Amino acid sequence: MTLPNPAPNAEPRRVCVLGATGSVGINTLDMLERNRDAFVVDVLTANTNAELLAAQAKSMDARLAVVADETKYNELKSALSGTSIEAAAGTAAIADAAAEPTDWVMAAIVGAAGLAPTLEAVRRGATIALANKECLVSAGEIFTREVTSHGATLLPVDSEHSAIYQVFDFEHADHVGRVILTASGGPFLTRSIEDMRDVSVAEAVAHPNWDMGAKISIDSATMINKGLELIEAYHLFPVDKSQIEILVHPQSVIHSMVEYVDGSVLAQLGTPDMRTPIAYAMSWPGRIDCPSPRLALDKIATLTFEKPDSIRFPALRLAREALEQGGAAPTILNAANEIAVQRFLDGEIAFLDICRIVEKTLEKVPNTAINTLADVTDADQEARKVAQKTP
Ligand code: NDP
Repeated sequence: MTLPNPAPNAEPRRVCVLGATGSVGINTLDMLERNRDAFVVDVLTANTNAELLAAQAKSMDARLAVVADETKYNELKSALSGTSIEAAAGTAAIADAAAEPTDWVMAAIVGAAGLAPTLEAVRRGATIALANKECLVSAGEIFTREVTSHGATLLPVDSEHSAIYQVFDFEHADHVGRVILTASGGPFLTRSIEDMRDVSVAEAVAHPNWDMGAKISIDSATMINKGLELIEAYHLFPVDKSQIEILVHPQSVIHSMVEYVDGSVLAQLGTPDMRTPIAYAMSWPGRIDCPSPRLALDKIATLTFEKPDSIRFPALRLAREALEQGGAAPTILNAANEIAVQRFLDGEIAFLDICRIVEKTLEKVPNTAINTLADVTDADQEARKVAQKTP
């Protein structure tokens, strides 16, 4: 089922933002605030940031605010006192929040923690604006099967996938030759392996073009983000694995491209501002105003491209191999990466250890078949244990 763009005077669409307090969540609320006539914020969720969540719920007149961390319930409840906004807490309450009958759900929880709640929204046939790429990496076949069987609408929010979505001819997918995912290359694009050995957390999260949450910023620095996006693209678009290529484009102006069999290449361009792909997911198949800075190609003047270096950035090879192997390999890759990134953020391991731990975990955890969500959970948990223990 696809929901048409609301006609003028149509009832406002009811909205749930999963991960409202994060980078994508905050940008989403900015866009929702600007479109209050067309969208009513019903449900907002966070992990631990009860203070910001309560402030957002009050300013958007939400009905329900939910924190995953149960120890934050009292803080949330007291921050909402004097209002009629309901409060809830716990992992199950986050999934329940996604199951509330809203029309449009922004899935912007970071990591595999986003899978269960996003699936709740999928199973009631909602329109899902999908930022959480880990859902598709960890449980791609199951996730997309559920989308189809429940008639949900999946709209990509990742800027690359939004770009492809905007130029992909779904009616004639056989006319597509290649999907070209662009990659900024992250903050260490020009560093030698030797120079990457001792980089600090602050250096690794400082993305040159995008302002994002900590996890995806580290993923961009190791370039596993592009590997995750490769797997995400495979599940979102009707193309073969071999048709998806990665091209480094440090200016992040071309957000991705589709090449057709006649040699035409269609691209979507824009300034690096997540509000543009969020606006597209809000308004699809139409468009709405977005305050993102306009693209001034004359000022940028030069766009450059290069092949990715899979020696300095082994994550690209690991992700490609996991996609080729199938089964639990992408689930293991994702879970191991989440643990390794957290260990790096906690100062426990060095930057280059992240990919080493992911690779070791892929070697150690058996690549089992994935038929059910329980299979995903088992592989995910096993990979987390191994990645946590790998020195
Ligand atoms: P952030 O870390 O900034 O925000 C994550 C959000 O998820 C926060 O609201 C956080 O709550 C919540 N959260 C974290 N863990 C849990 C949990 N266990 N249960 C429930 N909620 C949780 O992430 P980003 O906004 O950067 O990214 C979100 C997703 O979007 C990621 O999958 C990322 O890969 C993807 N994405 C992000 C882009 C960006 O520009 N940031 C671009 C493209 C994709 P709290 O604040 O309380 O911790």
